[in-house]
Amino acid sequence: RCLANQHAHVLNAFITPLPRSGQWLDRVKEADQRREQGNPKSTVDGRLISIKDNICTRDLPTTCASGILDKFTSPFNATVVDQLEAAGAVVAGKTNLDEFGMGSHSVHSRFGAVKNMRRDQDGQDLSAGGSSGGSAVAVAAEQCYAALGTDTGGSVRLPAAYTGTVGFKPSYGLLSRWGVVAYANSLDTVGILGRNTSTARDVFSILNKHDARDPTNITSFSRSRIISHLQTPRLASRLTSSPLRIGVPLEYNISELTPSVRRAWLLSLAHLREQGHTIHPISLPATKHALSTYYVLAPAEASSNLAKYDGVRYGTRAEGPDSSGQPDGYLYANTRSNGFGAEVQRRILLGTFSLSADAMDNYFIQAQRVRRLVQQDFNAVFAAAHPFGATEASETDRSAAANVDVIVCPTAPSAPPRLSDVSAGSSPLDAYVNDVFTVPASLAGLPAISVPVTVAESEQNPVADQVAGIQVIGQYGDDELVMKVGELLE
Ligand code: GLN
Repeated sequence: RCLANQHAHVLNAFITPLPRSGQWLDRVKEADQRREQGNPKSTVDGRLISIKDNICTRDLPTTCASGILDKFTSPFNATVVDQLEAAGAVVAGKTNLDEFGMGSHSVHSRFGAVKNMRRDQDGQDLSAGGSSGGSAVAVAAEQCYAALGTDTGGSVRLPAAYTGTVGFKPSYGLLSRWGVVAYANSLDTVGILGRNTSTARDVFSILNKHDARDPTNITSFSRSRIISHLQTPRLASRLTSSPLRIGVPLEYNISELTPSVRRAWLLSLAHLREQGHTIHPISLPATKHALSTYYVLAPAEASSNLAKYDGVRYGTRAEGPDSSGQPDGYLYANTRSNGFGAEVQRRILLGTFSLSADAMDNYFIQAQRVRRLVQQDFNAVFAAAHPFGATEASETDRSAAANVDVIVCPTAPSAPPRLSDVSAGSSPLDAYVNDVFTVPASLAGLPAISVPVTVAESEQNPVADQVAGIQVIGQYGDDELVMKVGELLE
């Protein structure tokens, strides 16, 4: 079991760490006894699990790394926190993030940037990835057994890739978002970080239940439909012995891929082939528009979600002339200007613009159309039809074409950049580009996992082994298969 180590404060992974002593210690001891008696509550009984600080906890503050929620403590636990506690897990503190989940390097935080455990050859600090960078580093530094993050466009998978951990984003709607602070509702998922896939699976099985309090959560009826859909003999056999058809999206082989990432990708494919699986080139043509689509839709939803932080109903209120008879507008403006960081303000402006009457048709509506194309691209290549896709061809028709079981591609185009190159003041576009491989699965709501693949340095350049994140994406509801292939690559 892992306790906060002495590097905790240096890495800045936690906004609110677990106190050194407290009731939680008793709960760990009780769990130890249950385990000794062969009667643990679950696989995570007594384990420390860190929680990203945009997931509500009753006992610890929830800041979203924002000035606007500086002093906020939720009166209730998010459902996922209740589920973990009911299974015996102990909340190991609240982890640092990009404010409200908006960012790719965990630098846009009121509490300062998260640092990666790893450094580059020159000893420079590296990005931990974002926005769940604190959760990933807490896992990598063995400050906890596993961690919860949120993944709207890659925020669990990118930090996993940069820190050498496993990051799993389940199918949209499987895990409850009740008590998870909304960024972009149509994309938000709770994700899991662990040192290996089997940890992620253990945590997933505890959280993968219907929650009536989250209206976007998949009902029990629809869950059984997904299961029966995947239980035709052929689809079910993919989880056991039969060879898998692995799709390699040609559009993802971009010139910006760094050599170590491309090598890790090729190594992974070779490894899968050695195990008897077959590799198939596929095309996902709408992918090249996915990033711009995401960066229209996510800010649009965010601008609406963040409207409630006005200093009146919620959060920190600005001091100033407003309280002495100025028009209300000042109160809102001052509160929001002081409370939100620059990146969040940028997203609010972008989102408000793309939803305005003049721009709506050209931006928001177009982006919704492209989102549909991205979804259709995926449905066209997977052997399993989308379980909720009414117009899909029957499974027999589909398997005649070059259909695949999962897609394997890099999680990010490069190794983690230096923190000094991605600091809060650097170009936002440079940060957005890192999400190019993660946003397509988010737009389509598909399950995806990032696993660390080690690339041994060539003999000519024996500096060090490099670790790159390799991503496995599956059809909606194929979460188990995605984890299985992730495990094959570990
Ligand atoms: N980097 C992306 C963004 O800034 C994804 C964030 C996320 O998944 N929460 O929106």
